[in-house]
Amino acid sequence: MIMKLLTEGKTKKVFSTSKDDEVLLFFKDDITAFDGVKHDVLKGKGFLNASISAALFQVLESNGFKTHFVDFIPPNIIIAKKLQMIPLEVVGRNIVAGSLTKRIPLEPGIKLNSPICEFFLKDDNLHDPLINDEHICNVLQIVNHEEIEYMRQTVKKICKILDKYFNDRKITLVDFKIEYGRLDDQIYVGDELNGDSMRLWDADGKILDKDRYRKDLGDVIEGYIEMYRRIIGEEGLDEIFG
Ligand code: UDP
Repeated sequence: MIMKLLTEGKTKKVFSTSKDDEVLLFFKDDITAFDGVKHDVLKGKGFLNASISAALFQVLESNGFKTHFVDFIPPNIIIAKKLQMIPLEVVGRNIVAGSLTKRIPLEPGIKLNSPICEFFLKDDNLHDPLINDEHICNVLQIVNHEEIEYMRQTVKKICKILDKYFNDRKITLVDFKIEYGRLDDQIYVGDELNGDSMRLWDADGKILDKDRYRKDLGDVIEGYIEMYRRIIGEEGLDEIFG
């Protein structure tokens, strides 16, 4: 398989594959926060994040969602359908946390009456601002009204499905971010779904996700490993972490 590096982001490299309609996502061990201002390398993180992403994309596929997931090649590669990415970060929330607490006077940890969806523009220079349907469909014309409604409804459904999935594993799903892409006039869930893009709390309120890194709580990789154990089990942990 002749591979060419197509793009390199903060935590992933994207390579071409022998198939024109697929890409290879290589999950790096890097962890970053605050638009890359904070940066470290945590051995084994690429393995944990690729594995968790693969597992969660398969949950979405089995629930009928169209995703880019094709295959997982352990320890840290996902083969995905090549999408034309839409420059939006679409956030689903079950519980108040993070940037929502800066916009709405509610304490973190309060459960919302029903899942909500928010759209942020992917733009590092503007620090990914919150934008609304008017900005997205009428000003920027990134997607049309039908497409934005599809994204909103899928995120809310995913909120409910993953909420139950994590509840069964004694984890609370607080919020998550999804990125979508286009393929043949259809919208697919792309990018990744793991501790970098979701907030997950243990039953006793312990943070398991990237907030451990953002907030300097320590034991960052331990949080990701615990998440992996609840989702996947012990498989592969010995080989990577000894
Ligand atoms: N998120 C993400 N990438 C970003 C910003 C947010 O994956 O660039 C995720 C974040 O991990 C959380 C959800 O989106 O699960 C909601 O994030 P929020 O809007 O609260 O922003 P934050 O507090 O993370 O800046």
